[in-house]
Amino acid sequence: MLKISFITTVNHNVGDDFVREGIIYLLNQKFKDTVLNFDIIHKHSPINARQGFEWFRNYRLSKYVDQVLPLSITKDKVLEADILVQSGAPVYWCHPETHGPHCYNNEWFKPLIKRRYLKTASKVPFLNLAAGTCQRYDSNGSEFDSCKSCQDYIKELQSLTEVTTVRDKLAKKILNNMGFFVSVIPCSSIFARESFGIEPENPEYVALNYMKGGAHYVFGQKIEFEKWENNLKVFYKQISKFEKCVFVCHNQDEVNNAKRIDFNANIFISNNYKDYIRFYAKTKFGIMNRIHGAFLIASFGRPAVLVGNDSRVKMAEEIGLPYIFVNDANLVWLLEQYEYLKNGADNYPERFNEIRKKAYNDYQKALSVL
Ligand SMILES: [Zn+2]
Repeated sequence: MLKISFITTVNHNVGDDFVREGIIYLLNQKFKDTVLNFDIIHKHSPINARQGFEWFRNYRLSKYVDQVLPLSITKDKVLEADILVQSGAPVYWCHPETHGPHCYNNEWFKPLIKRRYLKTASKVPFLNLAAGTCQRYDSNGSEFDSCKSCQDYIKELQSLTEVTTVRDKLAKKILNNMGFFVSVIPCSSIFARESFGIEPENPEYVALNYMKGGAHYVFGQKIEFEKWENNLKVFYKQISKFEKCVFVCHNQDEVNNAKRIDFNANIFISNNYKDYIRFYAKTKFGIMNRIHGAFLIASFGRPAVLVGNDSRVKMAEEIGLPYIFVNDANLVWLLEQYEYLKNGADNYPERFNEIRKKAYNDYQKALSVL
């Protein structure tokens, strides 16, 4: 049996669940004749690396408790792992322009890697898979040039990982600038459905996802919040004459936002990420702010377009989907995209099939280091 531990989130963001399930599928394919045991660590509360402490999710308090408790008194998902995986997330971010956050300061690297993994690093491979950036939309990666702390973090991470694959071209560029050469492979979330054997079903509705301002953060950009809400509202009114539309909401905030678009809108929300995969299996196409929602729609061979405000949205390029900066997503653009999606998005099923095959082979090639 091989014990594989994931640095991920748990019951926090279904996008992270999709990414991790995709990697689980790829690892199960790689180790067909071996029993695999998967452990998941909620990285926002690193004490979750200790077996039995999964309930403890208050970061500040648990950080303190984790620091004072000796490692030897609990069973530990990092210390006992045969393989450790950083499971697809932004790993590189650096925001000196707004005195914002830096990746060197993330909550998991010190407790999980420096305190724990370094003890087993000589015999346990650490895989950094589907790593991405989270920068301003127009970033060229130069923020990292003058940030020694983020550079040191990246160098240390690179020195410890057996393999790194990235999910967006900006991540590749940032690593290249520092002398590291990595492959861009579409985010592993496109394999999530295969982890559960969920097949495409008859398309029943158009999926819409609305986040205020188009994404999680602003990073000092002048985001036109009201304009995006109004454009989406008018667009929704027009297309809902012809289409059954469902607002797919990855959290309660998005339910409240969708109700601002139409109080009586069809809304989908669940506390089980498998329900989302089944929901996306019946989607005709999507107009989305949630990136991993669009990736799940694509995984069923159906197209989507993405509206976003940071570098994460550019992951869409790797699976052949259009994307746009939120301030530019006006009504004309939305209606053009609607026609494009309705007409099959340049034969998306066939295009995606090729993308999927190549991504599968590229991941297996990356995993061949094991
Ligand atoms: Zn930095």
